[in-house]
Amino acid sequence: MILFKDALIHSPPRKSLRADLLVEGSRIAKIGRVESSADAGIYENKVLLPGYIDSHIHLLEYGYSLIFLDLREVRSREEFFTSLSSYLSTARELGFLYAFNLAPERLKETNWEPLTDELDRVADDLPIFIRREDGHSVYLNKAARRWLLYDQPIEHANDHLTGRFNELAVERMQERIPRDVRSEAFIKAGADLLAKGVTAAAVMIGDEASLGDVEIIRSTGARLGIEAALFPQNRDVGKICDLELTRLGGCILIDGSFGSHTAALRKPYTDAPGNHGILYFSQKELDTLVRCADEAGLQMTFHAIGDEAIEQLISAYQKVIEPGNPRRHRIEHAELLPPDLIERAAKLGVILGVQPCFETIWGQEGGMYAERLGDRLRWTNPFRSILDAGIRIAAGSDAPITAPDPAEGITAFLNHPIAEERITVEEAVAAYTYHGVYAVHLEDRIGSVREGLEADLLVFDEDPFVSLNFHPQAVIRRGKLVAGSI
Ligand SMILES: [Zn+2]
Ligand SMILES: [Zn+2]
Repeated sequence: MILFKDALIHSPPRKSLRADLLVEGSRIAKIGRVESSADAGIYENKVLLPGYIDSHIHLLEYGYSLIFLDLREVRSREEFFTSLSSYLSTARELGFLYAFNLAPERLKETNWEPLTDELDRVADDLPIFIRREDGHSVYLNKAARRWLLYDQPIEHANDHLTGRFNELAVERMQERIPRDVRSEAFIKAGADLLAKGVTAAAVMIGDEASLGDVEIIRSTGARLGIEAALFPQNRDVGKICDLELTRLGGCILIDGSFGSHTAALRKPYTDAPGNHGILYFSQKELDTLVRCADEAGLQMTFHAIGDEAIEQLISAYQKVIEPGNPRRHRIEHAELLPPDLIERAAKLGVILGVQPCFETIWGQEGGMYAERLGDRLRWTNPFRSILDAGIRIAAGSDAPITAPDPAEGITAFLNHPIAEERITVEEAVAAYTYHGVYAVHLEDRIGSVREGLEADLLVFDEDPFVSLNFHPQAVIRRGKLVAGSI
């Protein structure tokens, strides 16, 4: 038993209050006046929040980023080989060496690229993969070539001058990452999230080709640490129902991204006249998929970034959503959202899965959004306008794209580059707790500090609503201390 005496409890959108709070077993047993008892650990004057939920995370890929070698900081050929050598013993345990984020254009020796022979000198018995920062190509040593290519040669994917392979090799490599490494990646990611106060996550999982990772994440059981609400990124409604999943989608692409000029726009890109981006579905195809998934009783969400893509998805949802949006269908990202689309989304009651840190990275004056969109920068991630229209937002990181750290996300909400689009601390915290949990149908179990709910609690010494530091000092998950100390 844990007893918090005279705690300040913030659980928006409910009103904050000061009370005693008793944790018994895995649940919040009582909030109010509680007599001290000898068998409870007693803590006085703490500030409590519900555990955070990250409403959009690629958990496996984030786990990989914690296990494999990150070359982001490498600035020379020498540093490259030094980091490979110091990572070699870990790689031997894994059975292969996988490094990512190599940016040849940032090296002292401009545009030097690792040759097969040079990689063989690091280890000729261990497969070595060096992935470039953009993710689209990879350098292999001979052992890696044998491992990847022995049954289905893809030599045509090879640039013979540099030893560099294209996406085919990258995909093949992802497929061959063994089950135990995948399982470890999930568990490492879960532990990392708990340390940041994230006790639940909407996990984007699998792809069009395979849903095998669903079984792997399920098999991690309690070792995963967090509550995972799975969004299988696969269009096969039958397969999803067979796996007893209740949702469909995630980053299933309606369009691409602004960075690569593939997000679909109603008017062309400011810096690429004539280019409207790409829609990956016809309206008819999307309508059919949405209807079929809705009839199967599934909750849905899709990746839609440009206004044209968001409009297409809203039009598809409009044909199935019942008043109040009982299945809680969502749109992920919804980055360019002008007033007419805000209005339509509000009418439908659709939920937006947003990433506030995108504004920090791309929304600044002269930043990527401004370059691509010109004046339309006014309507990128317009959180204040969205909330004022009565739309619910669930906040996430899209990790590994941004760090899965709600403390950073809350800061981003409060510091939107467009002052009129900033939201309040209470609203930002609610987007990372109650509303995120509502957006995966789990509000009867978690997401609030309420009697009877699971005791997923964040503990602070100082009131974060005043200090604006939202990194918890301790994290309690189902009544147990899982990170930090009280
Ligand atoms: Zn996406
Ligand atoms: Zn995503």
